Amino acid sequence: MTATTTWAHLPGPDPLPDAQVRERSADAPFGTVFTEHVVTLRWTPGRGWHDGTVCPHTTMTVPVALAGLHYGQVVFEGLKVYRQPDGVPAGFRVADHARRFAASARRLEIPELPGELFESAIRALLAVDGRWVPEGESRALYLRPTLYGAEATLALRPAREYAFQLLAFPTEAFFGRAVEPIHVWVPAHYSRAAPGGTGEAKCAGNYAAGFAAQREAAEHGCRQVLWLDAAEHRFVEELGGMNVFWVTEDGTLGTPPLTGTLLPGITRDSILTLASRAGLRTEQRPITLNELCSPATTEVFACGTAAVATPVGAIVSTHGRWPVGDGRAGPVTTGLREALTAIHHGQAPDPDKWLLRLA
Ligand SMILES: *Cc1c(COP(=O)(O)O)cnc(C)c1O
Repeated sequence: MTATTTWAHLPGPDPLPDAQVRERSADAPFGTVFTEHVVTLRWTPGRGWHDGTVCPHTTMTVPVALAGLHYGQVVFEGLKVYRQPDGVPAGFRVADHARRFAASARRLEIPELPGELFESAIRALLAVDGRWVPEGESRALYLRPTLYGAEATLALRPAREYAFQLLAFPTEAFFGRAVEPIHVWVPAHYSRAAPGGTGEAKCAGNYAAGFAAQREAAEHGCRQVLWLDAAEHRFVEELGGMNVFWVTEDGTLGTPPLTGTLLPGITRDSILTLASRAGLRTEQRPITLNELCSPATTEVFACGTAAVATPVGAIVSTHGRWPVGDGRAGPVTTGLREALTAIHHGQAPDPDKWLLRLA
């Protein structure tokens, strides 16, 4: 199947009135109110990707022995579409998300979805659900492409059939519009990713494996988990489902290097690019938890598509509690967040052509 292939449209209920779309989009908790359609594809040996379909967003029927469900052969992406000042919706770094989706698929022995098909699926969804792209600062349509083993088998091997689905929902920035610093919890026991494991793939199982630590964090009044390396439990790796940055006294912006246990965030890459362009010194190097908690660290923030950039106000572990700076959002965090948000919404030049106009 090529990108120019037409998509079959399954009949569904009448479109919702515009007023109801607006009403449902307003202030819904993250990932709870979905647009009206889903785009799907199937993969079978010999035929590859085929059966491109735009269907109503309803319950799907799957085999009880669904391979992806039993053995976790599931990868996904998360990207956003922003309403531009002229009204056209634009996707952020779509080709880069498609490349990462393919890399995650390879890691789990899932056939890759070609980049053109990834983009074509997004265009097909936007063609029917474009009015769900919200207007306004920090609001966007969040796209969730997923690939999973769709064969009905419990054989312990990669599935021989796969399914792709793309769904969407309108969203505010993950932690809300206000940039309130979050407190983060350092688990004493749990790790997210080990060398040679799946830490750099966006696979569903990584999230399930983190939920116990997330509960521990909540029990200690924290919003997210600060993950340390699995081998020594000394080096800072990620922050929940986000990448982490820090600022040191001399104004240098740092982030851990991509060693294979971190997810190569597209927001991370965007922030490094924007920071260098703004003349900030940047470094990618390992940092210990001790150094992150020392007074030499003036700012810490988390970044990802869902949250954009969220300041960290304090780091908490069984050993104590360390405020970061004065506990409020620092100037570097705020500046970078605003610079990136301005590009998202078409309010600043886009020299790297990160936005893909989708109409
Ligand atoms: C998705 C994700 C990120 C952030 O990636 P973005 O491309 O910036 O959204 C960071 N860490 C983990 C574990 C992730 O799953």
